[in-house]
Amino acid sequence: MFLKRLDVIGFKSFADRISFEFVPGVTAVVGPNGSGKSNVIDAVRWVLGEQSAKSLRGGKMEDVIFAGSDTRKPLNFAEVTLTLENEGRALPIDYQEVSVTRRVYRSGESEFYINKQQCRLKDIVELFMDSGLGKEAFSIISQGKVEEILNSKAEERRSIFEEAAGVLKYKTRKKKAEVK
Ligand code: ATP
Ligand code: MG
Repeated sequence: MFLKRLDVIGFKSFADRISFEFVPGVTAVVGPNGSGKSNVIDAVRWVLGEQSAKSLRGGKMEDVIFAGSDTRKPLNFAEVTLTLENEGRALPIDYQEVSVTRRVYRSGESEFYINKQQCRLKDIVELFMDSGLGKEAFSIISQGKVEEILNSKAEERRSIFEEAAGVLKYKTRKKKAEVK
């Protein structure tokens, strides 16, 4: 499984539709300060289901929508599509290629899609749970995370290993079943 493409419209600093093609060999995104490198990572975390505006470096979810500039009006929605190669079926869905889309409007309305089929946020979160790619997964290590992992309590650190070992999905389901 590898990240093939990221399509972004109206997300943070990306007012125009932009496509990042992660062809084999691409290992880094470089650019001057403030050019939007971290916004690319925020887009990946957001489409994978991130619900906390704060961890996307904003105050509220609306802050992910392009807020306008000197020459451009603000936009009314943000949309991100992440496309993964799934030849080895690392994701439990019978497609060679899997794309997930998330869209949010200023009104607060949200839409989610897996391979262009509308779905719930929960479906996206479950699809990636235990794949090592979920929003809490170990595949994205943000600034400060290394220290956080080293300084965290044993139980908190354990959840990283549980995700890596593939048991987090079952624990989450068990917890939900117990609540009901
Ligand atoms: P550094 O090298 O300093 O880490 P970076 O390349 O990671 O920089 P980002 O943090 O990704 O840069 O981008 C920050 C820019 O994104 C800022 O100029 C900020 O104004 C802009 N930005 C963030 N949210 C929005 C938004 N909703 N609308 C328009 N611009 C935004
Ligand atoms: Mg940055």
